[in-house]
Amino acid sequence: MASLSVWAGVAFAGGGGVTPPKTPKVTDVVCISTCGGVHKATADSKIQVRGRHLSGVSKVLFNANGGGRTAADAIAVTSRSVKARVPGGAATGKPKVTDSYRSATSPKVLKIVGPGQIQSSGNFKLRDASAKPRRSYYYGKKKPRVTYMFTNGEPTDVRIDVVKRPAGTVVDSWVEHAQAPNTSHTARWSGVRRGKPASNGHYKFRVGPQSGSMESTTQARFSYHRFEFPVRGRHSYGDGVGAPRSGHIHEGQDVLARCGTPLVAARGGRVQWRAYQASGAGYYLVIDGKKTGHDWMYAHLKRRSHLRQGQRVRTGQRIGVVGQTGDATACHLHIEEWSAPGWYQGGHFLKAITKHLRHWDRWS
Ligand SMILES: [Zn+2]
Repeated sequence: MASLSVWAGVAFAGGGGVTPPKTPKVTDVVCISTCGGVHKATADSKIQVRGRHLSGVSKVLFNANGGGRTAADAIAVTSRSVKARVPGGAATGKPKVTDSYRSATSPKVLKIVGPGQIQSSGNFKLRDASAKPRRSYYYGKKKPRVTYMFTNGEPTDVRIDVVKRPAGTVVDSWVEHAQAPNTSHTARWSGVRRGKPASNGHYKFRVGPQSGSMESTTQARFSYHRFEFPVRGRHSYGDGVGAPRSGHIHEGQDVLARCGTPLVAARGGRVQWRAYQASGAGYYLVIDGKKTGHDWMYAHLKRRSHLRQGQRVRTGQRIGVVGQTGDATACHLHIEEWSAPGWYQGGHFLKAITKHLRHWDRWS
């Protein structure tokens, strides 16, 4: 009944655009400092309740010694996380959170032990950190990731920085909560900053306790690029955009390579077109490059690409092999870059394809 009278007093009853707050849901409660384990804490340990719709939570309730509950104020609240300190007198049990209307109980038990059972906080020491793959690409098959291990006396909030080399600029940083010591952990980086692919170049991951000093290793270095050079083998440059052709001009750049040399998508996206043109492009493919607005057309493939029209393709993904189909006098890739809205859809071919290829070639 109490909750019904609360509802009557708020504006939701009037209808319109206001929706009632969603019921909080708790998925876990973990200890994040002064811990005996991920689910083992003592009085004054900092704990984190995880779940959803938690932004209205003001109190965390713990079982009390001698029965009932004892409350702690929430100290940092987001929709997915609430932090609090374990109050004196708390006992082992399933903590509960409350907002103005409702409550939710953890499905997991938080064990409360005496302070003597908590190992004293050792010093965080990074034992290992390595990045994989050593080279990765925006919208590529694999995101850059770091696998790390550390020693410490307790589960630790571990901060991970992505640092541009050699400048040392931190381009991204986040915290992995309550990581167990002496355990291998893996964290991934999106490679995207404010919705845009991160800049080309060399990077490293740096790992440390949330509020302590950060460390790195030479194995934690990696490179990241926005495009991959599409011809994966020995090659040389042939005719560029504007070279004379009978009745028209050359609309792309030729890259000479042996027939059978693997070809990859310079930028992933969607396969916009796959076709065959006996009098010109031979087997060809047009890819709408993710976040570019531009299209890339790859021609004279040895055989029809295995990729289908409409299929998603990742940067660096194999699209076929170099061939000589259509009107071609040697094995080569003919590649065109088209401005938005795209290839024969109102865009136009760009002379810049040559400059772009030579730029991507520097890290191929
Ligand atoms: Zn050509």
